[in-house]
Amino acid sequence: MSETLDTLDLVTWLTAYRDAVTEQRAWLTELDSAIGDADHGANMARGMGAVVDKLDQGVPATVDELLKSVGMTLVSSVGGASGPLYGTFFLRMGMSAGAVPSLDGPALAATIRAGLDGIVARGKAELGDKTMFDAMAPAVDALDAALAGGASLADATAAAAAAAVAGRDATVPLVARKGRASYLGERSAGHMDPGAASTAILFETLASTVAGPGR
Ligand code: ADP
Ligand code: MG
Repeated sequence: MSETLDTLDLVTWLTAYRDAVTEQRAWLTELDSAIGDADHGANMARGMGAVVDKLDQGVPATVDELLKSVGMTLVSSVGGASGPLYGTFFLRMGMSAGAVPSLDGPALAATIRAGLDGIVARGKAELGDKTMFDAMAPAVDALDAALAGGASLADATAAAAAAAVAGRDATVPLVARKGRASYLGERSAGHMDPGAASTAILFETLASTVAGPGR
């Protein structure tokens, strides 16, 4: 199994993410209807649909150009909070990646960390605010820890996905302090955060791409 992800592997990941958010669109919307405005499934399906449509026209040769293009497409195609936030995530990943044809584990972890920092710079979320950050921050920490411990890329991304799912589930009892859900105050408790749910899917599809056939 390969210990690097090249641009075509990244396209496989983004396509799997498009497919997963499209399949789980109704669930993401149901989560957002409880504590938001019932558009998260539509936002993610539309945004990732636009991303894959653009890639169908041609895949940039380097990781930085690919990820920056993904980020710009998300910013321009999704109106909700998640568009600029996921858009910034991919833009910052691209800015940190450099003009390289592929990423190894440490390089992948560093670019995802840069993306997470971009989400924080844009949305100011902290752990426990009941946002996508609550799934992403533990995922990035788990990815770093697994790689530092000598894990394979497959095991490290699987650990990241498991941490994202745990972080997502941990949003259920929380009171939202950022975004639309924060308008509900205490009434936001008892519901899973939709952005944390879509972030868990992002890491699950990364892990399945790395573990996937033909790599
Ligand atoms: P909108 O809230 O504009 O309708 P979406 O429904 O697509 O946009 O996305 C909502 C998700 O965005 C939330 O569930 C939360 O995870 C995330 N979110 C909102 N505000 C922030 C923020 N300031 N920082 C990080 N994530 C945020
Ligand atoms: Mg919404």
